[in-house]
Amino acid sequence: MACHSGLMRTRFAPSPTGPLHLGHAYSAILAHDMARAAHGTFLLRIEDTDLARARPEWESRIYEDLHWLGLGWPEPVLRQSDHLARYAAAIDALGARGLLYPCGCSRADIRAALAAPQEGAGPAEGPYPGTCRGRPYADRRPGDALRLDMARAIAALRQAPPGQGPRGDRPLGQFRDTGPEHPGRHDLDAADLVATRGDLVVGRKELGATSYLLASVLDDAAQGITHVIRGADLFEITFPQVLLQRLLGLPTPEYHHHRLIRDETGKRLAKRDDARAIATYRAEGARPETIRRLVGLA
Ligand code: GLU
Repeated sequence: MACHSGLMRTRFAPSPTGPLHLGHAYSAILAHDMARAAHGTFLLRIEDTDLARARPEWESRIYEDLHWLGLGWPEPVLRQSDHLARYAAAIDALGARGLLYPCGCSRADIRAALAAPQEGAGPAEGPYPGTCRGRPYADRRPGDALRLDMARAIAALRQAPPGQGPRGDRPLGQFRDTGPEHPGRHDLDAADLVATRGDLVVGRKELGATSYLLASVLDDAAQGITHVIRGADLFEITFPQVLLQRLLGLPTPEYHHHRLIRDETGKRLAKRDDARAIATYRAEGARPETIRRLVGLA
């Protein structure tokens, strides 16, 4: 991709699977305003890789709502469904390094394996129990998920580059967060990645059937994003995302996980919460400044 200047580049990356609500408005305005304050660039990216749920109507409404809020971005907008071959190539590259394996387990299989009595029986919840681990990448069948072999991924990162000493004692990666809930530097911990994330799904056998996890990492790099500004609900996913960046040799941006906008009962807003959809406020005659005030950005 093109060379990007050293200035701040932020993005808003909605999935077109429902109306944008006040929480999205907060995220988008914050990312926009932070870039503007730094004389940087705010980008929009449409994360429509969930082909079963993404709809063009929702995408059009995203553009309308954001323009109405007064936000602008360079065109063309990156739509992930236009880049499936690029994600498939990255998945293949990880597969060729022996870091992925195909998995045909259904959710029910996984639940059953986790619940099965075993030595030191653990909880019936947790990361994927590894039933298909060891199946070669070449053995992919239609419908298979492609899982990252977490232990191998960690081992690959630990291998010392030629001419350098072992690096087993260094963190696997780290990122900085400037948000209010998790400020500071965060190290990736190998034991924690294995115990709490395990062998995550990064794709499917079908061409371009990628995961949010991977596509988002690839596009943050492709778009030269320097600051990822998004809700605190995505803080935990940052750990495997930084792991993927390290495996793929991509830069790690700075993160700002912002507070979530909640309703009066303290529940965080959901896509189906039409009452707080930006479109509903617009239809009721609200002004963009009203939205800024409602999310505490006026
Ligand atoms: N597409 C994700 C969502 O709509 C956001 C991903 C991100 O900001 O990294 O929830």
